[in-house]
Amino acid sequence: MNYKNDLYYTYSEFLLETYGEKVYKIPVSISNTCPNRDGKSGWGGCIFCGDAGAGHETLSSEITPLEQFKRNSEYISRKYKANKFIVYFQDFTNTYMDADAFRSNLEQVCVENVVGIAVSTRPDCINHIYLDILKVLEEKYNVRIYLEMGLQTVNYHSLIKINRGHTLAEFIDAVGMIKGYGFEICAHLILNLPWDDEVDIIEGAKILSALKISSVKLHALYIEKNTAMAEMYENNEFKMIDLENYVNRVVSFLEYLSPDICIQRLIGRVPQENSIFANWDRSWWIIKDMIEDKMKESNTRQGAKCHYLGGAALR
Ligand code: SF4
Repeated sequence: MNYKNDLYYTYSEFLLETYGEKVYKIPVSISNTCPNRDGKSGWGGCIFCGDAGAGHETLSSEITPLEQFKRNSEYISRKYKANKFIVYFQDFTNTYMDADAFRSNLEQVCVENVVGIAVSTRPDCINHIYLDILKVLEEKYNVRIYLEMGLQTVNYHSLIKINRGHTLAEFIDAVGMIKGYGFEICAHLILNLPWDDEVDIIEGAKILSALKISSVKLHALYIEKNTAMAEMYENNEFKMIDLENYVNRVVSFLEYLSPDICIQRLIGRVPQENSIFANWDRSWWIIKDMIEDKMKESNTRQGAKCHYLGGAALR
């Protein structure tokens, strides 16, 4: 695969290939909890999760999704002359609600110029009821469907440590179900969880490649105030890896990742004011540049080491 930037398959390139023009993702909020907070899968949530439930860019869920979409898309249209949009149901776990409410929230944003619906959820909140609803919307409104799932790490010991409330098996199960419907899958990973090492990072790239998911969002761990993780950090129960090490991990991850998987995000933007550790006090774009510079220096690219699938020992 030949990338425009020669290093990795960018999300903007995927959007351009898919829709033939620039498409903007508009975040909206409809959910305010998840089964890992209310006792269904676990209590208290993932140890890094703050009050916003992993969302910081949305308007209040008290406003209807259609109104949220209109307000945000009008602004983006004016600023970037955008014509097409993907509505992104971002905060918390969007399939963890009554099926009729889910359908009605999604259906109201299937309006002119909306070409995709992206739904953020957990691997243990996927089943055929919700996937059937999405299939109907896809066919009725000609929108492409994207499921975004937090996995964070493939190390199932670390998944227990971060109180994730699911393990790797649920993720694999959900991917199988979603693929049966032909929807796109985006996985979210944190590449510097304190209990993971380089082997976990590489295995993460290999598992996502073997599962043939469509895209990934990479994040560096940030530590939000008033979370269980903040308390552990302040008690010196773990240390963060340094930035150089983090950059090396991202480069290794990309080398082992299939060249067909697009990178929606190389590093997350984090709200500094609410954090006690956030991206080594660097702007996200500085870290992005560091990763790209490291790849250029090492003369490497996404998929450079992706030779392990399809019976590698027989070649
Ligand atoms: S699954 Fe998501 S919303 Fe739920 S506790 Fe974990 S990070 Fe927060």
